[in-house]
Amino acid sequence: MNAIGVDIGGTKIAAAVVTPEGNISSEVRYPTQAAPANRLIETVAQAITEVKDGFEVSGVCVAVPGRILASENKVISAPNLHEIEDIRLDEEIGRRTGLMVTVENDANAAAWGEFRFGAGRGLQHMVSITLGTGVGGGIITHGMLLRGAQGAGGELGHVTIDPTGPRCGCGNYGCLEALASGTAIQRRAREVANERSTSALGRLAIERQVLGEDVTRLAQEEDDASISVLEETGRWLGIGLAGFVNTFNPEVIAVGGGASQAGELILESARKEVQLRASSPSRDLVEIKEATLGPESGVLGAAALAGSEDRESVS
Ligand SMILES: [Zn+2]
Repeated sequence: MNAIGVDIGGTKIAAAVVTPEGNISSEVRYPTQAAPANRLIETVAQAITEVKDGFEVSGVCVAVPGRILASENKVISAPNLHEIEDIRLDEEIGRRTGLMVTVENDANAAAWGEFRFGAGRGLQHMVSITLGTGVGGGIITHGMLLRGAQGAGGELGHVTIDPTGPRCGCGNYGCLEALASGTAIQRRAREVANERSTSALGRLAIERQVLGEDVTRLAQEEDDASISVLEETGRWLGIGLAGFVNTFNPEVIAVGGGASQAGELILESARKEVQLRASSPSRDLVEIKEATLGPESGVLGAAALAGSEDRESVS
């Protein structure tokens, strides 16, 4: 049966009616408002009601960027959306829409989307990494989403990669997120631009702030300084992935998110690092590739989880 997936991001809320085959029948988008909790919940409820119009759906799953307590359908901490913390979203949104509502971490939802309909389709064991402003992770093992005791597991972005590394948004130092996110690429680009001021990257940095996409573009134009920024990012990513390869023995690691636009510029050095550090036979099996669904992975995965038996195993 159709289900509704909702993806709450820092800037927009997307809601979609999704068929069991992973096709989007209807979709709406609203800006995420920096407003009191009620306002955001009202907006989500409105998006659900609007997108549902005329469709029969089995339920709704709301993907949220933060730590969740899945058994209570509650967000424990959402650094960019404090207003929805500690609220029973299933009850609040369910009451307004008359639908069965569950809550999921956004990176877990994206992982489930890639697993069901994208890079992991037809497989049983997959790791998903989202390189955006932060680094999100999701683990599928034996065809099940790994959530842990409270539904807070799968936070691959906050595995320590370098204990002496930069401070992470979570408070720890040297997390994968602090070393391989879009934010980390920008920081590294500033450092390399200072050291190599005559490079294309260095010259751009004198004119204006360098963004992640600038680094990708300049690297594609063969600017050595920009290439080195992305290669180093790939090395840190690969150090993280090597650990995941040894731990989960996945068939595929799918890398998505905005910073994954750099594609092979990052993935090639990540693969090298995995070959150096991970063990056989896991390292020989794993295929490290780009995610295929793009920004829709969140709504697709959330919708697939809304109707999923697997979701009920949490409580
Ligand atoms: Zn962290």
